[in-house]
Amino acid sequence: MLNEKVIKLLNEQVNKELYSAYLYLDMANFYTNKGLNGFAHWFKLQAKEEVTHAMMIQEYLQDNDIPVELEGIAKPHGVFNDDVKAPLVLALEHEKFVTNSIHTIYEEAVKFKDYRTMEFLNWFVKEQLEEEKNADDLITRYELSKNSLLMLDHFLGKREEE
Ligand code: MG
Repeated sequence: MLNEKVIKLLNEQVNKELYSAYLYLDMANFYTNKGLNGFAHWFKLQAKEEVTHAMMIQEYLQDNDIPVELEGIAKPHGVFNDDVKAPLVLALEHEKFVTNSIHTIYEEAVKFKDYRTMEFLNWFVKEQLEEEKNADDLITRYELSKNSLLMLDHFLGKREEE
């Protein structure tokens, strides 16, 4: 049986992952409106990945016979005006927030000697390194190709689903 605190945090993480999907979908829509379809494609795939993360956590709770309680998803908080770089910066900041959130659950699991949840979270710990790296790379690429934004857009449009 999982500890109540760990259950609560995992439940909240389902919401955070779905919020991430919502945030990235909003970013995709921002880029669609700007005519940057490659950027939009990249963020739409990112949104899909976040839904998958939420599903994985749901399933883990359900496999442990714990009912999932879905909460409301907040309105995405990004305000980008005309700044093409702004969503990229927010994406990195957001992934760092999610990393902290995963680490907090891990710390609780350690506290309660919940080896099962630690094992489950290992995938997420690794994934967050990847997510932060991807977000950071995106900012670097943007800086490198500011004068050829359409080339970067074309490149991002080629991202494939994992
Ligand atoms: Mg995620």
